[in-house]
Amino acid sequence: MPNRPRILLVEDDAAIVQGLRYALEQDGFAVTALGTAAQARAALTAPDGAGFDLLLLDIGLPDGSGLALCRLARQQSDVPVVFLTACDDEANTVLGLDLGADDYIAKPFRLRELQSRLRAVLRRRGGAGGAVTLPGGIRVDTTRAEVTKNGATVYLSALEYRLLLAFLAHPGQVLSRGQLLGAIWDAGGDYVNDNTLTVYVKRLRAKLEDGKSDAPPIITTVRGLGYRLEV
Ligand code: CA
Repeated sequence: MPNRPRILLVEDDAAIVQGLRYALEQDGFAVTALGTAAQARAALTAPDGAGFDLLLLDIGLPDGSGLALCRLARQQSDVPVVFLTACDDEANTVLGLDLGADDYIAKPFRLRELQSRLRAVLRRRGGAGGAVTLPGGIRVDTTRAEVTKNGATVYLSALEYRLLLAFLAHPGQVLSRGQLLGAIWDAGGDYVNDNTLTVYVKRLRAKLEDGKSDAPPIITTVRGLGYRLEV
């Protein structure tokens, strides 16, 4: 997928990694998740280690501290850094910000808050454009959560946007109704049943496509299997 911003997530709690990876991928990020400071040091000092657009670092790692990783990254680049901190760890939080971190997020956090804070960090930095282009003059800027068609804003509801992101995570692939339901239900916290999914796909399609018979389809129904985003 073109231009997906790359996040390095360093966190030793497997449950947090699982939830975060899923949410961030739905948001259009490419996620590399590592569980130890040693692995992260290796990734950051690898030849393409400067290629990350954002580092999301747990401070308390089994073999070291996220703070040291921030220091290491800062020696090499100006990549945005966001810390995941234990809620009572004020001293390390202050130290992290002194080291030049862009933000910190205290555990436990709400996924949606974390997603919007990361978008804000990337927006402030002005880099890491997460723009994806689709047929029909559609442009999706995943760091700004903006969708345009031939330059004009397309207004999507939160659920329609989540649905679009679910498609964007697997461009050109058939997604089953179950996969789509899982994606929009889990992330949004709203209950969507099989019938309403049909309605949401229809609405999203109407907003993205021209409605002209010769216009290229953007979301195709694959009978008996699900839907596919055309790329
Ligand atoms: Ca930890």
